[in-house]
Amino acid sequence: MSSKNDSSRTDRTPLAGVPELTERQLELYQDLHAHPELSHQETRTAGIAAEASREAGFEVHENVGTTGVVGVLSQGEGPVVLVRADMDAPPLQEQTGLDYASTQTAAGPGGEQVHVMHGCGHDVHVAALISAAQWMSDHRDQWAGTFIALFQPAEEQGAGAQSMVDAGLTELAPRPDIAFAQHVLALPAGQLGVRPGPFYSTAANLRITVHGEGGHGSAPHLTVDPVVLAAAIVGRLQTIISRELPPGEFAVVTVGQIIAGTQSNIIADRAVMELNLRTYSEETEAQVLAAIDRIVRGECAAAGSPKEPEFDFHDGFPVTVNDDDASERVRVAFAEHFGEDLQPIDRQTASEDFAMIPEAFGTPYVYWGLGGGHAEAAAGGEEGTIPANHSPYFAPEPGPTLQAGTEAIIVAARAWLA
Ligand SMILES: [Zn+2]
Ligand SMILES: [Zn+2]
Repeated sequence: MSSKNDSSRTDRTPLAGVPELTERQLELYQDLHAHPELSHQETRTAGIAAEASREAGFEVHENVGTTGVVGVLSQGEGPVVLVRADMDAPPLQEQTGLDYASTQTAAGPGGEQVHVMHGCGHDVHVAALISAAQWMSDHRDQWAGTFIALFQPAEEQGAGAQSMVDAGLTELAPRPDIAFAQHVLALPAGQLGVRPGPFYSTAANLRITVHGEGGHGSAPHLTVDPVVLAAAIVGRLQTIISRELPPGEFAVVTVGQIIAGTQSNIIADRAVMELNLRTYSEETEAQVLAAIDRIVRGECAAAGSPKEPEFDFHDGFPVTVNDDDASERVRVAFAEHFGEDLQPIDRQTASEDFAMIPEAFGTPYVYWGLGGGHAEAAAGGEEGTIPANHSPYFAPEPGPTLQAGTEAIIVAARAWLA
């Protein structure tokens, strides 16, 4: 895609050396975009990140966790800065029509072939971090300390950060003084937003199985109907947020899936519900989980369920809470460099597993949002015209998005290392 907006919307001066990186970066980005890889299968992407880091003079560790890459560039005494880019792509069939659109398929979790698309923009994160790492290497006279470029697998499943920590990440790299991550969001391309405190919510996924007694649809009196039981549970779950949490406390309880039964004249013997939960604090999450447990057990008792319900947690994400002081330091540096392209940003109801990495080191962190939307659409003033993450039409505008993403890493890192 060619663009008339190959630099940012406003006339700010790009960081010296970044425009020279842009051509190579665009080629790299389009190559990554055309070759997305599912969680824990990011071998090609990891190979590119490792090779680029090695060429830039980093000491490189590969296959950390599954496909994780850690590059360390030391430039004498000084603070240690870690920057994370996630590498994986979700199972989606791309509909953007871009000439570098993905046509890739891969074996999904159940072994079935699925389409894969960089529908979350992790290709931007990887390309920007590779370029920023190159810049840090090319400008060693301008900073002192250590710069760590970390490429993480399996963010989409909330499993990659933990896999790197379990593989001994804290032994491979020096303890950072500060850790950063960024994510492309549906904001105008070239803009950024950073905020202190909660940035992303927790996410918990919970599979609940409730048991009935199956039988013929003509004889409900001889059964315990799990469909009626599940319906009662879904209804009462709605009271957690409306009646139990303080007004103004954010939480989401979504029942995204119910599976029960096979046909109309058979009463099933069980129902399976898939819940998705979001909060901005671990305490609120614990309160919501306790309420779910109480409601499900209570409704099972009321229905005369013959067996205890089963609760199975999967793909959980921690809360992402930016350090107050460090966020302010990043905000000041961004304001100075990006001017009006630094915009206020609300906390997001999405979730991330990045926090597990700085938490393993005991390090504060700052996470910021990076605009990727088409400037033309944004200039039209129509809200919602930028396809959101995980849309098959998600298509960051490469020029300004990559440039701002690369500069953001360098500007934030230099706030500690310069
Ligand atoms: Zn993502
Ligand atoms: Zn995603």
